[in-house]
Amino acid sequence: MSDLVDLLREGLPEAAVVADPDVTAAYQQDMAGFCDAAPPAVVVFPRTVDEVQHVMRTATRLRVPVVPQGARTGLSGAANAVAGAIALSLVRMDRILELDPVNRIAVVEPGVVNAELSRAAARHGLNYPPDPSSWESCTVGGNIGTGAGGLCCVKYGVTAEYVLGLDVVLADGRLLRTGRRTAKGVAGYDLTRLFVGAEGTLGVVVGAVLALRPAPPPQLVLAAEFPSTDAAGAAVCAVMAAGHVPSLMELMDTTTVRAVNAMAQMGLPDSTAALLLVGFDSLDPTSDLEAVGELCRAAGATEVVPAADSGESELLLEARRLALPALDRLGTTMIDDVAVPRSRLGEMLAGVARIAEDYDLTIGVCAHAGDGNTHPVVVFDSADADESARARASFDAIMSLGLELGGTITGEHGVGLLKKDWLARELGPVGVQLQRQVKAVFDPLGIMNPGKLF
Ligand SMILES: Cc1cc2nc3c(=O)[nH]c(=O)nc-3n(C[C@H](O)[C@H](O)[C@H](O)COP(=O)(O)OP(=O)(O)OC[C@H]3O[C@@H](n4cnc5c(N)ncnc54)[C@H](O)[C@@H]3O)c2cc1C
Repeated sequence: MSDLVDLLREGLPEAAVVADPDVTAAYQQDMAGFCDAAPPAVVVFPRTVDEVQHVMRTATRLRVPVVPQGARTGLSGAANAVAGAIALSLVRMDRILELDPVNRIAVVEPGVVNAELSRAAARHGLNYPPDPSSWESCTVGGNIGTGAGGLCCVKYGVTAEYVLGLDVVLADGRLLRTGRRTAKGVAGYDLTRLFVGAEGTLGVVVGAVLALRPAPPPQLVLAAEFPSTDAAGAAVCAVMAAGHVPSLMELMDTTTVRAVNAMAQMGLPDSTAALLLVGFDSLDPTSDLEAVGELCRAAGATEVVPAADSGESELLLEARRLALPALDRLGTTMIDDVAVPRSRLGEMLAGVARIAEDYDLTIGVCAHAGDGNTHPVVVFDSADADESARARASFDAIMSLGLELGGTITGEHGVGLLKKDWLARELGPVGVQLQRQVKAVFDPLGIMNPGKLF
């Protein structure tokens, strides 16, 4: 162990290599529950690509596992450390190196916080669309590692669609440059895309070229109350089938609405079975909202309330962003992330309600409804062994339901440790075998974030 620390310090400043047990314990896990974690042997905080290369060469030489970490807001245990590992925190590589309005790109280091990039882009009249609810703390490197989504993906797509090129330090310390800075480019296999969602198992992202869009007009949002989740699901289908292009379409069920009200006194309507938020950042959002309001009423909405202005709209979004922290206050939580074709959203929501009943548990649901991406949050008392076992079983039942409905076990949070038993069911044996072979090409010694995904 002192060999490891000494060797690391040959290429990093002393203060950037920390083996203090209080610190290593603090860096052992992300925000997922039910996932194994152990304090790493050492946490390193490089500031340069050279320093990351030195870390990886040292790890290869000593055959030590490396766990890349961003802000550790992940919800699947993908950033959890294993005993004896190097936790490689990228948070100090946090510079925005270029913002280029002509080519509409940003060149960034991996530790840049998502919201900082959005604000910097806005100062140039540009927009970086991927906006996970954790945007004030999560990093671009973590977003690339997980393939993060967010509220505006229904119109603008997920992180993968904005990553044009990457600088990646491989397991043996070599620097790989993938992709492009150009608007178009199809040279060779798309290795850039391969790293998006790879959960740090193939290499360490040390730089990214990201696509930016022109800043959209201010967004206007409406809130529609529904007497059932079925009716809300039908409204989502009607809006999409009519050809509308909302900039967000989010859903919260009663449990979630009440939890948000209890946490932040937002005054949301807490007798509603489902609250749907629909936003437009189009040239005429008022007309778009009127048309969508009509479709919501036709689907059974009891109340449709458009926000008066973009300030009021932002408040509604803030309420949605509080959903997970608010549900967290009700007990121990397990957050699922099942995405289904949006045409089957109503069935998914009804199925989750049935599962809550069958397992006698509280399950609050918030959803990126326009993407069919649901977040059923199982709330339970972790001191009660029976309830904990039921919670775990209900979580599995939700994933099984998602697959039955033609969906995926994870729309945006990733597999990590939490869902590794389920990945094989979704990919099938051939898929798993090929993915393992790909991993072996990049990481023949198996030191990159071992135990994640498979
Ligand atoms: C309140 C709350 C709300 C959330 N809302 C959303 C949401 O709306 N949408 C969504 O998608 N997620 C959401 N999340 C989950 C989480 O914020 C995202 O998964 C985010 O992308 C993680 O970023 P991070 O910087 O915290 O990464 P970490 O959790 O530190 O790491 C995530 C993964 O990326 C890898 N990684 C990190 N940095 C690098 C790097 N430089 N190179 C290679 N691999 C790397 C890690 O090894 C790990 O596998 C939410 C979480 C919370 C707590």
